[in-house]
Amino acid sequence: MAEVIDGKSVAEDVVRTVKALTAELVATGKAKPGLAVVIVGEDPASQVYVASKSRTAKECGFHSLQHTLPADTSQDSLLKIIGELNADPAINGILVQLPLPGHIDAGKVIQAIAPEKDVDGFHFINVGKLGTGELDTAFVPCTPAGSMLLIERVRGKDLSGLNAVVVGRSNIVGKPMANLLLAANCTVTIAHSRTKDLPALARTADILVAAVGRPKMIRGDWVKPGATVIDVGINRIPAPEKGEGKSRLVGDVAYAEAAKEAGAITPVPGGVGPMTIAMLMANTLASAYLAAGLKRPSF
Ligand code: NAP
Repeated sequence: MAEVIDGKSVAEDVVRTVKALTAELVATGKAKPGLAVVIVGEDPASQVYVASKSRTAKECGFHSLQHTLPADTSQDSLLKIIGELNADPAINGILVQLPLPGHIDAGKVIQAIAPEKDVDGFHFINVGKLGTGELDTAFVPCTPAGSMLLIERVRGKDLSGLNAVVVGRSNIVGKPMANLLLAANCTVTIAHSRTKDLPALARTADILVAAVGRPKMIRGDWVKPGATVIDVGINRIPAPEKGEGKSRLVGDVAYAEAAKEAGAITPVPGGVGPMTIAMLMANTLASAYLAAGLKRPSF
């Protein structure tokens, strides 16, 4: 049976380190790292995420600011707030919770965030830095950055020559994940909905990352024996066994089958999920270090 990669415990480690480094930074007379989270509208899932981000920021010792705006906030008003946060020296990281209401152009809002405060790593400047290997100053999207940390815990930092297959090519997960693996010297293949014979391709992977959004799509016989399997998927499926109308979370990987073949595997929940917020804290800390003219800490 595969080693279970405990994302919850790695995420707690990251948050502990961020907290300690924040205390060190403040002890040298520098300002606390500041994180501003902006949410527009009342989407319940987004509200839970935002509350959790703000709570973890406080736990890290950050200056934490939250803008909760009504669903009918105009794009101009939102851009004005982004402009003010860009100019505020107490703020190192700006996160706009997605999705935004339909009348707001999310792309325009994301590109309005100052790249050096773009702790989500979605600005073209940060995308370009990751793509060109400028990792010392790039902000990398939190979910793939967290997934990479989990891979490193199992395989070490140098992944030279390993075959990596990333299933999914989104800008938020698949593409940045592939770039991180390439920067770590993997031979990377990105698969997507038009890929031919995905099971055979997946079986070539020493590192298999699933970021698809289809419950249990990756079967046990798609997994190369001994592979490291990272399941980014979060899918809610009905769970009548828990009672009428109940549901549960599953990943993109058929866990029980895959765990028999893999060398190491992330569970869902408790794998990649907890890493996302932890890496948001790590990115905000990095931004504060860079703003203070210091080398960013590595995790
Ligand atoms: P997305 O934007 O919907 O992208 C899904 C990707 O999967 C697309 O590239 C799509 O290919 C590909 N795909 C769809 N069906 C496929 C199939 N049958 N075979 C092969 N590839 C297929 O999703 P995302 O934002 O990357 O998220 C992926 C999953 O990760 C979701 O379950 C999401 O909830 C989860 N997620 C978790 C976290 C976290 O842990 N914190 C964060 C973000 C996302 P095409 O490009 O060809 O359409």
